[in-house]
Amino acid sequence: MTDQESNGDPKETFSNGDTCIFCRIASNNTDTEIVHCNDELVCFRDVKPGAPHHYLVIPREHVGNCKSLRKEHIQLVLRMEEMAKAVLQMKGISDLQDIRLGFHMPPFSSVPHLHLHVLAPATQLSSRSLRFYGPQSFWFLTVENLLKQLESQNRVK
Ligand code: AMP
Repeated sequence: MTDQESNGDPKETFSNGDTCIFCRIASNNTDTEIVHCNDELVCFRDVKPGAPHHYLVIPREHVGNCKSLRKEHIQLVLRMEEMAKAVLQMKGISDLQDIRLGFHMPPFSSVPHLHLHVLAPATQLSSRSLRFYGPQSFWFLTVENLLKQLESQNRVK
């Protein structure tokens, strides 16, 4: 967990696609299997799954961590959430109440390219996974809370 905290500096929203692992995955420059994608977003399995189903949804374009998000990103986050739920349904998850969708707050994130963690079933998270992704994890920001913060204060605090 080494991602530096972003203060919304626009420079942090750009990246050299050669060095950002998620930019490389998005442009199909790795062996990572793409589970689902469209013109804007890409979904793939997390290499260290924290639940029976654990995917990451990322924008193709490099966007910095959740601290760089502003109100104008609300629609992007909603589309990421929509893809996350669509993938879970494609994978046979029918109970969309029993899922965890969210972002790790810097500095407790390791890849500085915006990524939504998509975990299911939430009731099958191990105690270790609960520390990273559970309701008690103070650095795991659910999509719902992130959207509320963007709406009310135009940033994540
Ligand atoms: P975070 O700690 O929130 O930044 O999460 C980054 C996530 O990306 C971790 O859960 C890693 O397991 C995952 N990850 C890192 N590199 C890869 C990769 N090449 N393919 C799939 N998942 C990855």
